[in-house]
Amino acid sequence: MTATIYKPDSVISPHPRVTRLLGQNPSPFTGAGTNTWLAGEKTPVLIDTGSGYASYTALLDESLSSRGEERPSQCLLTHGHPDHSGGVAVLARRFPGLAFRKMPWVKVDEKIEIPFQPMADGDRIEVEGGLTLRAVHTPGHSPDHLCFLWEEEHILFTGDLVLGAGTTFIPRETGNMGEYMASLEQVLRLNPRRIFPGHGPVIESPQPAVEQLLNHRREREAQILACIAKSTHTPPTVENIATEVYKGYSPALGPLIMETVGAHVDKLLAEGRVFALPEGPPRYHI
Ligand SMILES: [Zn+2]
Repeated sequence: MTATIYKPDSVISPHPRVTRLLGQNPSPFTGAGTNTWLAGEKTPVLIDTGSGYASYTALLDESLSSRGEERPSQCLLTHGHPDHSGGVAVLARRFPGLAFRKMPWVKVDEKIEIPFQPMADGDRIEVEGGLTLRAVHTPGHSPDHLCFLWEEEHILFTGDLVLGAGTTFIPRETGNMGEYMASLEQVLRLNPRRIFPGHGPVIESPQPAVEQLLNHRREREAQILACIAKSTHTPPTVENIATEVYKGYSPALGPLIMETVGAHVDKLLAEGRVFALPEGPPRYHI
C-alpha cells in the first residue's frame, strides 16, 4: 500500500481542540484549497467537506485517528457551493448515518441528493469538548451562507464570507452585494476574537481585516457611481463601467469583473441611487 501524498501544510491545529484540513482541491478559485474544520473532542463536528476527492477522505481518516477519534458526530455546511459541500455524498458513504446540516437552498441542495437537516439563523449546536456553535445567517456570497460562532471562545468560522487571503466573489445572479456588505457589518458587530475562514490562513485580528474588506467595497462602489454620474451623454453598460474602473486588470479576469460590477450596479439600483434606461441593452444613469 502506498501512502497518500497530501498538499503541503494540509493539517494545522490553530486551537488545541481544532484541526484544519485542506480539501485537497487547490485551484485559482480555491487558493490552496478549501479549509475544513474538525472541532471538539471525542465526537467532533466537521465544518465543510471540500470537493469530494478521495485524498481528502483519506486525510480526514488519518486526522481522526491521530486525534483518537473514530468519526465526526455531525457535519455543518457553511453553504452549498461545490468546494464546500462537494464531499457530502462521499462522506455519507464513509460514515453511515452522519447528519448533514445547512441552511436550505433548494435548487442547489436537490442536486446534492443527500437529505439535509435544515439550519436557521440562531440555531445552536452543542459539541462534546465545550463547543456551542451558533449559526449566523450571512447571505451575499450565496443565499444559504452561514457562519458559525463558537460562543465560548468567540471564534467565528466564516466560510466564504471572510477569506484569509483574496477577495470573496459575489456572483450577480445568485449573490447580492448589499447583503454581502451587511453581513460584513454583522461580523464587525459580533466582534470575534479570531476568524477561521473557508480559504486561506486564520485571521488573528478580525476587526481591521473586516473593516478593510468593507472599505474596499465602498471605494469600488464610489468609483462605479462616479463613472455612471459623469457619463451623462451615453449612459454606460456594465462592460463600459468595468473597462473604466478596472483599468489594467488581466483580461482573463474579465468575466469575474463583469459579475462584480454587475452586483454593485444591482445594489445601487435596489437603493434607488442609479436607474436603468427603459429600453435597449441595459445602460445606467443617475
Ligand atoms: Zn462559495
